[in-house]
Amino acid sequence: MDQFAIQFSNLKPGVYSFEFEIDDTFFENFEASEIKKGKVNVMINLEKQSRLMVLDFSVKGFVNVMCDRCLEDFDFAIESAERLIAKFGNEKQEVTDEIITVPESDHEINVAQFIYEYIHLALPPKRVHPNNERGDSLCNAEILKKLEEHKGKEIEDQLEDPRWEALKKIKFN
Ligand SMILES: [Zn+2]
Repeated sequence: MDQFAIQFSNLKPGVYSFEFEIDDTFFENFEASEIKKGKVNVMINLEKQSRLMVLDFSVKGFVNVMCDRCLEDFDFAIESAERLIAKFGNEKQEVTDEIITVPESDHEINVAQFIYEYIHLALPPKRVHPNNERGDSLCNAEILKKLEEHKGKEIEDQLEDPRWEALKKIKFN
């Protein structure tokens, strides 16, 4: 993950930009990652000041996730912007989600963990296939049909359950 280390000690105050291309191998470095595949472009605008650095991340691309409706994997488009403020201090510390302190004696800041978090934050809680230009869902219709049938079958099975007998009697009497 060395390629995600930004050397800042030799930077004069000013604005610098960095670009990273994230692919599947990136997510292999994070065992707990919900995302295993993706292609994401990350642009970082870094403004170095005397006592702190402001890092503006622009995250844009696709990550492969499972659709909550048809359960098929698909490429979900993500796009987000996040700001990180790194203050120079005595020790490495996370002050808030947005503010960290970085020892002034450090030479570099590794942004891999932040990129990882920002990509996950860009995902909404519910992920479903988008609609096409005609407004039709791009979900796998075959799978949706099977899921519907399965749901019907489950209800039938429940009705076979002796615990449902009483209910059935009420229903059919
Ligand atoms: Zn779907």
